[in-house]
Amino acid sequence: MPSLYPAPRRAKWLRPALLLAALLPAFAGANITLPIASVTTAAPNAKPDSAYQTTLTAKISQPRPELMRLLAEIQPARLEQHIRQLVGFHTRHTASDTESTTRGIGAARRAIKAELARCSGGQLQVAFDSHLEPAGPRLARPTEIVNVVATLPGRMAGVAGRERIYVVSGHYDSRASDVNDATSFAPGANDDASGTAAVMEMACVVAAARSRGSLPPMDGTLVFMAVAGEEQGLFGAAHYAKQARSQGKNIAGMITNDIIGSSRAEDGRIDASQVRLFAEGIAAKTELPEAQRKLLASGGESDSATRQLARHVKEVGERHVPGFGVTLIHRRDRYLRGGDHIPFLEQGYPALRLTEPNEDFRHQHQDVRQEAGVQYGDLPEFVDFEYVAKVARVNLAALISLAMAPAAPVGVKMHTEQLENDTRLSWQASPEADLAGYRIVWRDTTASVWQGSMLVGKVLDFRVKGKSKDNYLFGVQAVNKEGYVSVASYPLP
Ligand SMILES: [Zn+2]
Repeated sequence: MPSLYPAPRRAKWLRPALLLAALLPAFAGANITLPIASVTTAAPNAKPDSAYQTTLTAKISQPRPELMRLLAEIQPARLEQHIRQLVGFHTRHTASDTESTTRGIGAARRAIKAELARCSGGQLQVAFDSHLEPAGPRLARPTEIVNVVATLPGRMAGVAGRERIYVVSGHYDSRASDVNDATSFAPGANDDASGTAAVMEMACVVAAARSRGSLPPMDGTLVFMAVAGEEQGLFGAAHYAKQARSQGKNIAGMITNDIIGSSRAEDGRIDASQVRLFAEGIAAKTELPEAQRKLLASGGESDSATRQLARHVKEVGERHVPGFGVTLIHRRDRYLRGGDHIPFLEQGYPALRLTEPNEDFRHQHQDVRQEAGVQYGDLPEFVDFEYVAKVARVNLAALISLAMAPAAPVGVKMHTEQLENDTRLSWQASPEADLAGYRIVWRDTTASVWQGSMLVGKVLDFRVKGKSKDNYLFGVQAVNKEGYVSVASYPLP
């Protein structure tokens, strides 16, 4: 079978955004306001914009043409094909058949791996990541749990202290009503063939772009992962996260896509205009490490690494998927439910969950059946493939932006030596060769997303005059010459 992913026209990835900048009115000061916000307070010590700063500001705040072209390649029809193929394996229960070529989880994972290898054009490292999970309440016998992992190494892969990894996942295992029922029809079209298909589509679109030379090298490494054992206890994700931690890997961000397939609520309402992004604050541990205690003491409970990542995903995602909202939810997950981001959080990595806005629980974890005229079961007819495509685009916009951008600044410090109404921040120099400078962002203490920002050039110490640290939350970002911006770092006192 030929790949679903031909390499069509050659896109001009690096067409300068200068044209875009020229079309925009010049900004009056270095201080810009994000479109989502109303704070416009000028920083009194902001120097007049150089033409360069104006260009950079435009690049930062406008949709990036090269990203928009990439996102347009995500196709609902291919997502549908992936989802229907996965449903076709009858069940993908973690303890189901692994020998058959047409049924069960073994056939499913081989198909996912084969498709990723086929579309990769040699760009992705595609492999199984397997371990033996001991028997337990949700596993009758020791079971091999196999993740399918496709890696696009970044420029910093293997460079000590510089490697950053961004993981995006969906789980390909499925279940029926009884969590230990490994034989009944368990289509799992929405939970979670939708997330698996989105991950496959992203990987293949990225590989095709790289093959035809329209995706330049990125600093960060992207890991596209289809995991197993989620329904039995998050086993695949837990194994991967634990292994990463023991190998000292720097996972700078993780996003699980779980139940991103339907725009229709149980009461029939349709909302295809948003996706929920679950983001934990302070990791729920009995004893708080020093950095977290400082975070709490300074009112930074919403500025954990996970929340910083979340506002970045929201901002970049909404900018590149017009008319679509990423609704930030400041909690780990929904009540009574969990997902593959949790093992990553438990290993101390920033991790998020994307899920449709209104779930219909008749189509999750349910045997396929008719009852009182109601169709139960997680069938493809309840999946909105256009909607899945939008969520996949949010993911890809965020992942590429993160991998292109410099690492977030380290050693960011809020100076509190004396009582004053200014805000003095300092940080360590970023090692990136293509660094353009730094950007200070801020928001009201009750706001969840950045409201104001200013480029401050290549300095390592900056005083924001007339803007009191007592009244705002601040962050410092690194910006490269292409205008890609890092996640913000919280200044600890
Ligand atoms: Zn799920």
